[in-house]
Parts: sequence; structure tokens; C-alpha cells
Amino acid sequence: MSRSFIMVILLHIFDPQMATIIDGKGLALSLRGKIKEEVSQYKNSGNRSPHLAAILVGDDGASKTYVNSKERDCDFVGFDSTVHRLPSETSENDLLALIESINLNDQIDGLIVQLPLPKHIDSAKVTDSIDPKIDVDGFHTINVGRLTKNEDTYISATPFGIMIMLEEYGIETKGKHCVVIGRSNIVGRPMSILMSRGGYPGESTVTICHRHTQDLKSHTLMADIVIVAVGKPHFLKGDMIKDGAAVVDVGITRVDADNAKGYELRGDAHYDELVDKCSAITPVPGGVGPMTRYGLLYNTLKSYKRKLNL
Ligand code: NAD
Repeated sequence: MSRSFIMVILLHIFDPQMATIIDGKGLALSLRGKIKEEVSQYKNSGNRSPHLAAILVGDDGASKTYVNSKERDCDFVGFDSTVHRLPSETSENDLLALIESINLNDQIDGLIVQLPLPKHIDSAKVTDSIDPKIDVDGFHTINVGRLTKNEDTYISATPFGIMIMLEEYGIETKGKHCVVIGRSNIVGRPMSILMSRGGYPGESTVTICHRHTQDLKSHTLMADIVIVAVGKPHFLKGDMIKDGAAVVDVGITRVDADNAKGYELRGDAHYDELVDKCSAITPVPGGVGPMTRYGLLYNTLKSYKRKLNL
């Protein structure tokens, strides 16, 4: 049983009504520490470092921040990392050629192409040009297919991180009704597949909602677990869930703020309205985001171990 889970049990003994605040930041820190230890053992045995390559096209502010933090994470756990920063006018052919050269490089264990890409580049084509063996984002059609069939694959980082959080915090999922809001390929759809699959976490009855869902509240009010990934700050309000539901807030939106950065991060869930009503909730920041970053490290290590037969 993990330390965070024991803490949660102790807190509930003192205040059984209190919502569990799922500490994604703390959990990710502890899990990253384990990766660091494992990597150090492999290196001490004479193996090379795991190596993650990232491609960033253009100068979108949020994408730059994400890539920089992935680089720092690699450094922390002892991975090598290479970031290819390309101008926004890079042609699709040039990008595909770079991906092909990385696919052929035996020393690279993981390759990610930061999305979104500029409009003149076909993202689906790019995603499917990455060798599925090093597609540590898990976006390649083959890896998505494997996920759908419950075969071993790279589960994309955000859904993977959420599954680990649910597991670590012992959130009951079997036979529960899970409502996923958002059907994107990177969050909502894989989440819906994972929550309905056999095993734990999973075995839930899943409803997937999207922009054309009628009377969304009638669905969310029936949910034991709500996973919200729409990208609209404070979208899920207090009157949209039943007492005791668990809320996973995936949304991250930058809103203007009077601080040094000029912005702050806002989730899709209205935390203040929900916290006294739900049984558990992930905060923003400090919830799903850090666990997503952990998911990428986990997948890169998995690829490395496969390549080196460790
Ligand atoms: P997306 O824009 O691809 O998808 C949004 C989804 O929301 C769509 O499926 C759409 O149908 C649905 N939607 C929009 N309006 C709706 C409405 N009124 N009612 C019901 N559904 C509605 O977004 P995405 O890539 O899935 O990301 C969603 C959010 O999660 C964004 O804020 C993004 O920044 C964030 N995100 C966070 C992480 C993380 O690590 N925490 C990772 C990925 C994405």
C-alpha cells in the first residue's frame, strides 16, 4: 500500500466527509524517484542511458513550456534527451524525413512530436510515421488499436497517469458509472476505453459525452466518476455532480492573471464548488498534469528496457 493511500485513510478517520484531494504532484514526484533509481542501476551495470527525442514545430507558448518541462524531467531521472526545435514554416516532407532518421537511430528509445502542429502539416500522417516501437505518446494507429484490444502497448501519457492515480488512491471503479466529458484521441476516447476494460482500474459502465451531447447535466448527475477534458475553465459546476462522486479534472487553460507570468492555470472543474460535494478530486495545477509527465517517462523506460532486453 502506498504512502499517499495510507495518508488518505488516516485523514478520513478524522473527517469521513472530507473529499480526498488527489495529489498528482506528490505521487508523480515519488514515482519519478523510482524511475531515477532504476535508471541509475541500469547505468551502473554498464548500460547506456534511456534517450527521449522530441520535435517541436513553431513557437506556441504552451507547447514550448511542455517540451521544456519534458526535457527537465528527463534530466531529473537520468535520461538523455534531444529536442529538435523547428521553425513553423517547416515543410511536412522535412518533418517526415527527420522522423524517419530518428526511427532508424538505434540509440533513441522514445520519439514524441509535440501537438498541435502548424495547419499545413497533416498531424495524423506525422503521428503514423513514428515507429510504433518508439511511439511513447501512444498516438500511432497501431498502438491505439492495441489499447482498444487490451493488448500490451504504450498507453498515452494522460490516460495512463489518470489510471495510476485512481489505482494509487484506491478509487473504486468496478461496476461504477463513469462519465467522460470530451472525446479527443489523446484523452477522452482512450479514457473511455480504459475505464470499461477488464481489471482494475476499469470494469466501469462508461458514458462518453461531447459537444453535441444533449442535457449533459442529466448524465453527469448519474456518475460515480466524472472525467472532464473539454478545455473550458470551470465547465463542471457543483450542481452537475451527485454527492460523493469522484472528479478527475484534465483541463488546463491559461487565463490572464496579475502575477509575474501574466497567467494562471485553470481546470475544467469548478474546484471550489465541487470540493465539498465530491469524494475525491484532482486539483489544477498539481493533479493530472504531473502524472502525464510521469506517463511519458514510464513509456520511454518501457521502450528502453525492451530494446536492451532488461
Ligand atoms: P480537444 O479540444 O481535443 O477536445 C475537447 C472535447 O471537449 C471535444 O471532444 C468536444 O466534443 C468536447 N466538448 C467541447 N465543448 C463541450 C461541451 N459544451 N459539452 C461537452 N463536451 C464538450 O481537447 P483535449 O486535447 O482532449 O484537451 C482537453 C483539455 O485537457 C484541454 O484543456 C487540454 O489543455 C487539457 N489537457 C491536459 C492534459 C494534462 O496533462 N493535464 C493533457 C492533455 C490535455
